[in-house]
This record gives sequence, structure tokens and C-alpha cells, in this order.
Amino acid sequence: MKNKIFKYDFLIVGGGLIGALAGLALHKKNFKVLVIDKKKDIPLDQRTLAVNANSRQFLEQLGVWDNLKSQPQSINKIIIKDYINSLPLIFSNQGEPMGNVIFNTEMLKIVRKRLKNLNILKTSVNINTEHLCTDNAIQIDKNSYYFKKIIISVGKDINANSRHKSIVFDKGYFSYVGFFTHNFDHENTAYEMFNKEGPLAVLPCPSINKTKSTFIYSTNKKITNQQIFTLINKHFYNSHGKIVFDKTIHKFPVTPHLKKYNKSYIYIGDTLKSIHPVAGQGWNLGVKDIQTLCNLTEQYSANSKILNSLYYSRRIIDSSVYMGFTSFINFLYENQSPINKKIIKLGYEGLRNFKAARSLFIKQAMGRINLTG
Ligand SMILES: Cc1cc2nc3c(=O)[nH]c(=O)nc-3n(C[C@H](O)[C@H](O)[C@H](O)COP(=O)(O)OP(=O)(O)OC[C@H]3O[C@@H](n4cnc5c(N)ncnc54)[C@H](O)[C@@H]3O)c2cc1C
Repeated sequence: MKNKIFKYDFLIVGGGLIGALAGLALHKKNFKVLVIDKKKDIPLDQRTLAVNANSRQFLEQLGVWDNLKSQPQSINKIIIKDYINSLPLIFSNQGEPMGNVIFNTEMLKIVRKRLKNLNILKTSVNINTEHLCTDNAIQIDKNSYYFKKIIISVGKDINANSRHKSIVFDKGYFSYVGFFTHNFDHENTAYEMFNKEGPLAVLPCPSINKTKSTFIYSTNKKITNQQIFTLINKHFYNSHGKIVFDKTIHKFPVTPHLKKYNKSYIYIGDTLKSIHPVAGQGWNLGVKDIQTLCNLTEQYSANSKILNSLYYSRRIIDSSVYMGFTSFINFLYENQSPINKKIIKLGYEGLRNFKAARSLFIKQAMGRINLTG
């Protein structure tokens, strides 16, 4: 019997936190989409996601937000401290929260289930992304498929010999992620603390009674779990009270990179760029990738060749700015020279004294700034 031939608008390779959402968003725009993932099941990922106001709105529009059963914790205040300035920087927004903290996997399970029900997700499909093209048929589960566009969303794994070429920055960093309970209310406050060895973020974690938090400590230095616990106890005992840590700390490599343009593909999420988690914006930028792509499809057909280059040129600006900013901040704090201290002090003073700078920071944290119109 002859293989069936299917014709689709979009193939999305990778059904992770961004690829799966892209599938849902494009389906909602009435495109014929297929999402494939090499793994059968969702990997166990204990991380939380700081979802900014823009991304929350996006999840609401897709009908995902209301399905979250755990208690998303709003971020109503952000406190930034460092080892150079004596006073903290404090940001809050009137009305709408700046963001929310949710569990990674909870959101992904909801989206994957929706894709399965729509019959647009195939798992355990391991495809070689080197040879994918829109001119030839692609074999999936013994059937032949033609796609007008190929979207690559396989995360940040970078193969140096791949034709999907990247510029890689800052190798050798890791993020250490863990959880702790505390006896004071976290008061929906997120903290970013710049230490000499690396930045430490503490965020409210989804829970009923507001006495659970998560931390993300990023460094290129060797560090033991005990050293991390001591650091957190030292800085958070006053605000959070008695702290009890979960035993396990999860370690994630940090590989900041920017993907070079390749006219045959649309790169989204961590495949397009992966930034240092200091700003907690990696996934939020991926949401903007999807939004930009969806907006462009309102003007250009899925067949359009110009769509790929327009998409890339728009997204690479935002991605490069975040990449530059997060890497620059890291560089300043890590290299403790007098000139770097001066730059940091100037930045602090600017944010403390100028309302316009503060409001720009808040808009940026909320994902409300669009650099490409
Ligand atoms: C410690 C840490 C904390 C973070 N916290 C935040 C935060 O608070 N807020 C935020 O916005 N961002 C955060 N980020 C960034 C965020 O986690 C990533 O940006 C996000 O997970 C990227 O999603 P993705 O879909 O691009 O990649 P992934 O989630 O990695 O998905 C890739 C998918 O592709 C599949 N795949 C791989 N190869 C193939 C193949 N050949 N064929 C088919 N499928 C394939 C994989 O199985 C996987 O399902 C954090 C990152 C770190 C390291």
C-alpha cells in the first residue's frame, strides 16, 4: 500500500516550553501545524518560570492560564541588592502585577494535552534537523509530509558542526535551582542579589500559604550545596524567617548564544537565543518570538520567503539587546575593577533618582517594551 502524503503549513520540531505553545498559537490562527518531539514524555523539570505580564496575557488568550491548578504567585515587588551599593533598588507597579511564578512542567503538560487532543502532536519522533527542507517530502511515522515552513524549537543544545550555526558566549556557567520553606510570608516579592561569585534570585513559589520560595544561583565558580544554603540563610533570614531547604539542588548549564540567520528555517525559543538567567526572561523572549511570528502571518502567507528574514531581523534585535544586557551586568559584577564599580553605581543612581528610568525598567520586566514595533 502506498504511503499517505500530507500537506501542512508549519512543521515545529521540538514540543518544549516554546515549540508546544507555538503549535497552539498557530493552530489558533487556523494554520495546519504539526509539532514533533523526540521524547515520548515531558522530562521531569522542577524549575519554576517567572512569567511576565505580556506572557501571562498570551497564556490567557490561548486559554492555558486558567487551567493552571497550582497557585501562580504574583510578583508585586522586585528588590535588587548588590555588594557595592548599601541601599537596595525597589520596584513595584500600581495595579497589574509585574509577573507571576508558575511551574514549568504544569504549563507544558496542559499545552501538550491540548495538542494531543487536536491531533497535532507526535512524540518519539527523532528527526535529523540537518536535512529538513520544504522542497522535499519529510518522512514521519512512515508517511510523507510537505511543509511550507519549518520551525526549529529544539532548545539550546548546540552542535558545533551543525548547519544551524550559533555564536556562543560565556561558557562554563551553571544555574543551581532549589526550593525552601520559610515561616514568614514572602509578600509576593522577588529578589535579585548580585554577589561577587554570581547572581542569586529568590522568587515566590506556587503554594497556598506563601511560605515557599525558589532560588536560582548562577555562577562559573565551584560551589557546594552547603555554601548556597549559607548564602541564602545569610541574606534571607530577616525577610523570610527560619528557612528549611529541600535536599535536592538541580544544576543546569547556562549557554548564552545567538543563532545565525539561515533562510531555510525559523528559529524560536532557546534555539534562536539563550540568555543568562539573571533577568529570568529567556522563556518570555520565546513568547515574543511566537507573537512576532503570529503577527507576521497576518501580513504574509506561510509560503512567503520574506517571512523568514523579516521574522529573524525583528527577533534578533530584542534577543541581542537582552543578551548584551545580561552578559554586561554579569561582566560588571564579576570583574571587580574600580571602573566597573563606578558604572554600577551610576546605573543604580539613575534607577533610584529618575522616575523615567524606573518606569522603563518596570515596563521591560513586564515585557511591555517592543523594540521592533
Ligand atoms: C535555571 C533556569 C531558570 C530559568 N528561569 C526562567 C524564568 O523564570 N523565566 C523565563 O522566562 N525563562 C527562564 N529560563 C529560560 C527558560 O527555561 C527557557 O528559555 C525555555 O525553557 C526554553 O524553551 P524551549 O522550548 O526553547 O526549549 P526546551 O524547553 O529545551 O524544549 C526543547 C524541546 O525540543 C525537543 N527536541 C530536541 N531535539 C529534538 C529533535 N532533534 N527532534 C525533535 N525534538 C527535539 C526536546 O525534547 C524538548 O522537548 C530559565 C532557564 C534556566 C536555565
